[in-house]
Amino acid sequence: MRLAYLWDSTKCIACMACVVSCAGSNYSEIMRFEEPNPMMKWLGGNIRVVIREVGRPELRLVSCFHCDKPPCVLVCPTRASHIDRDTGLVLLDETKCIGCKACIVACPYGARWLHPTTLLPEKCPGPVCIDIIRGGRKPICVSVCPANARDFGDIDDPNSSISIKISKSKSERPLELLGTEPKYFIVKG
Ligand code: SF4
Ligand code: SF4
Ligand code: SF4
Repeated sequence: MRLAYLWDSTKCIACMACVVSCAGSNYSEIMRFEEPNPMMKWLGGNIRVVIREVGRPELRLVSCFHCDKPPCVLVCPTRASHIDRDTGLVLLDETKCIGCKACIVACPYGARWLHPTTLLPEKCPGPVCIDIIRGGRKPICVSVCPANARDFGDIDDPNSSISIKISKSKSERPLELLGTEPKYFIVKG
């Protein structure tokens, strides 16, 4: 099984429900509108809002893309960052993490950030979403999306909803030229 995320840029209405619900559900202890997370530029959550200004401005929602060849795992000296055998997701074992921050530097997408209280790295999926996914359900950002712009599922299963959407649409993965092989599909049309 290889679980992956999909974001349909043609359906997204930029409501930010996914951004806010990720922060509020996974990191309620640090959710402060008046004190933005300096690394994520807004809330202490796992989805960062980026406006790509190459030609016509485009919205991008950046989070961990669960690379099949993840630089964050390669540099981790303790194997705290690892690819989970059951799900294919890139996860972080906090009991092994020594807080060296090498993974934060190594991620070419800026998907990891430092929790201000634990001083350990954080990334998608957050602690609440990990439990939801292990229970066989889709993460919070997917279930709250009012535009059905997000999906999550097994790309090794040709009959999963995400596999069907990928096969029927034109999609790309973030910065594919880096060779990290992200398991995150951006539908373009
Ligand atoms: S997006 Fe960054 S944090 Fe996520 S697996 Fe890839 S390199 Fe690691
Ligand atoms: S901060 Fe933790 S997870 Fe990241 S590279 Fe260091 S030990 Fe590994
Ligand atoms: S919740 Fe859905 S529609 Fe709203 S910003 Fe996120 S992906 Fe876009």
